[in-house]
Amino acid sequence: MEITVRPDARKTLKQLRGEWDSCIKCSLGHSRIERGGSFVFGYGMLNAIMLIGEGPGFEEEKNGIPFSGKSGTLLHKVLKLIGLTDFYISNLVTCRSCSQQLDEDGAPRMRMNYVTKLPELAFKDEPPTPPQYNACLPRLCEEIYLVDPIVIVGLGGSVCEALTGGHVTITRQRGETVQIEIPGASFVPDLTERKEAWLRRDGSTPIVQNTVRYHFIQTLHPAYVIRKLADRGEDSPLRYFVADLKKALKTYEAYRETVYGILPTAVDTDDEAIQQQISEDA
Ligand code: SF4
Repeated sequence: MEITVRPDARKTLKQLRGEWDSCIKCSLGHSRIERGGSFVFGYGMLNAIMLIGEGPGFEEEKNGIPFSGKSGTLLHKVLKLIGLTDFYISNLVTCRSCSQQLDEDGAPRMRMNYVTKLPELAFKDEPPTPPQYNACLPRLCEEIYLVDPIVIVGLGGSVCEALTGGHVTITRQRGETVQIEIPGASFVPDLTERKEAWLRRDGSTPIVQNTVRYHFIQTLHPAYVIRKLADRGEDSPLRYFVADLKKALKTYEAYRETVYGILPTAVDTDDEAIQQQISEDA
């Protein structure tokens, strides 16, 4: 990951949002404007667990809230069932990546807008391409720096590849914890203002001046988990997804206990019961 733009430690997330919400640095910005879609920025708790998805879909582009569609419903259900409440949620790209749907004759497909009840062009969501997410990475890196999470979870292969800088076969590498490095502020008086916090993170100290290192857990994208919900086995995508989110929660709780003496509150829920509940609701 080659990011030359350094974050500004004095900036707020609101300011960062304002700097990017009319962005057209990649093709997704132009298509967002053409469709009249929303720029979808992250929200949630600082210094906790940061969940990063690939990008907004149909619902998210409409209402401007990350993970508010079908994938988000599954994600929020799992988070609730395992007791993961302290999270910030964002995306690799903040504009929707999609292509227009065509019928067999090559004519544009239409869909009914359930709010306006009017027909509109139908688009199919797609993972963002490297040129698109590379254009958006400086925003994501600065967002990570300002959120300063204890642990980050990458939801889906594109996110993991973008943030680790290597090839990731997510179905094989899910569940792995790796370290990722984010550019730090260009000027900070004594090494960094966050040195103390890093030192408390089980040896996760900065190795280079003004580079911030984070624990990064790789997992599946909820959309993939939804497609495989019929698989009820112990090694099903849903079970893996739950296990990876529980791993993030354990890392966060261990940090809070070590640093602040806060005892873990989440109950270790039965994976089979979670699977049953999610499958019944689907
Ligand atoms: S996806 Fe990111 S880089 Fe591309 S136009 Fe939107 S805000 Fe800009």
